[in-house]
Amino acid sequence: MGWLSSLTRKLSGIDALARQDYEHLILENFGQGCLELALKTGGGLDALANPILRKATSGIPYGVWCGLWPVSSYNVHVERTARGAVIVLSTGFLQAIVDFTYLVLNQVELDYDPQPPKRIPQGDVTKYLLRIAEATQPPIKVFVPPVGGLPGTLFAEFSSMAETRSRLFAEIVRSSIGFAIAHEVAHIRLGHLDRPTIRAGPNNHKGQDPLPEDRRKLVNLLFSWSEEIDADAEALRIMVGMPRRYWDENYWEIPYFGAVVFADLTDAVFKPEGVQRYPHPILRRSAAIGTVNSKSRPLEFPICEPLVRTIEILRYGPEVRADMTALNRIYAWGLEFKADERPRGTIVEGVRVRTLDQIDAFIAADFARARASVAYLGIAARGVSRLLSAPDRIEFAIYYDSFRRKFGLHQEWAEADRLIRLAITDLDLTLELWRRSVVQSNQV
Ligand SMILES: [Zn+2]
Repeated sequence: MGWLSSLTRKLSGIDALARQDYEHLILENFGQGCLELALKTGGGLDALANPILRKATSGIPYGVWCGLWPVSSYNVHVERTARGAVIVLSTGFLQAIVDFTYLVLNQVELDYDPQPPKRIPQGDVTKYLLRIAEATQPPIKVFVPPVGGLPGTLFAEFSSMAETRSRLFAEIVRSSIGFAIAHEVAHIRLGHLDRPTIRAGPNNHKGQDPLPEDRRKLVNLLFSWSEEIDADAEALRIMVGMPRRYWDENYWEIPYFGAVVFADLTDAVFKPEGVQRYPHPILRRSAAIGTVNSKSRPLEFPICEPLVRTIEILRYGPEVRADMTALNRIYAWGLEFKADERPRGTIVEGVRVRTLDQIDAFIAADFARARASVAYLGIAARGVSRLLSAPDRIEFAIYYDSFRRKFGLHQEWAEADRLIRLAITDLDLTLELWRRSVVQSNQV
């Protein structure tokens, strides 16, 4: 153990005890050779993680350590350990961030970019997204990046990026990894690790049957959706609150990049498994950004907006232009609607919990008024920033769904629906966003 104690002496000041827990975790799972490598190559992670940990862990009664988890799977999590808490980021996750950012930045059109991107043909995009996800899927390989950083991206065949893009690339990668760390710290800060169900592990022998270790690990990963949304908002608050010098000062939006990229990449990677561990990524980013920047203070995001648009095109297909005639028709319906009359139900943070009965009753009362409300909300949802649009789109989806259920057999339904679909061309994605963001009682 001689070399281990000599490494342990180089402490960076976050927490020595939690660091020992981290080292033991690596040792148990991967053996000594891997521990040495993980510590060597984790150097870049320290520089990124420690300022965030230093800022975010001051009120936490135990130590926190963040380290590399040297496997190819997509794994970011926090766990309570004997002497504190340990956050691990897998090599596969870091690689996926690098690759996804590279893919997005090769597509995005920026306002002030002398060199426009070499676009990847839409037909190939699915293939590239799949490659990113597959690289993180089983079989899990022990995978440590070489000292000095990750190897190039999967997509080195694309052009090397011009200066603006290269700088942004580095900052978006930093922001995304930083956001992931901040998100895990947020779970600790918000007390999610100390919930009774999560603490009911072998460390807690107060009469009840202790959970087996593997089960406890699983429980640790199962935060509820509302905890995830809270952790996102808290993480963004931490990121926005970092000292300016922590980021490239040319881009004030950098702290926001992480919230956007992390939510969508996580969704892209987990979707093939069919695991719905999180609400829709469009909601995750909107809820976080909307909570941290209240709507009373609208902000324009000159880089984040095109970034989000590019991610959506990559993942959900090209935007289809609205049919102007249809748009004018439904706009005219919307004018008849008095927005104050609409029932609002029980709304927690915009979208999480809904009492739908009131909306159903409102919709059922009158076809023309129902149609007007759907038209009004559909158009209103398109008038807000893409980054912040999720609550408005979900509001529209709830009314649309109620309208469809009640009046699907009405003689004017087919024509109304045709025009709505021609005007609201992302209707199906919006319905999907809503379906994947309705909070079930076991997720609250
Ligand atoms: Zn989480």
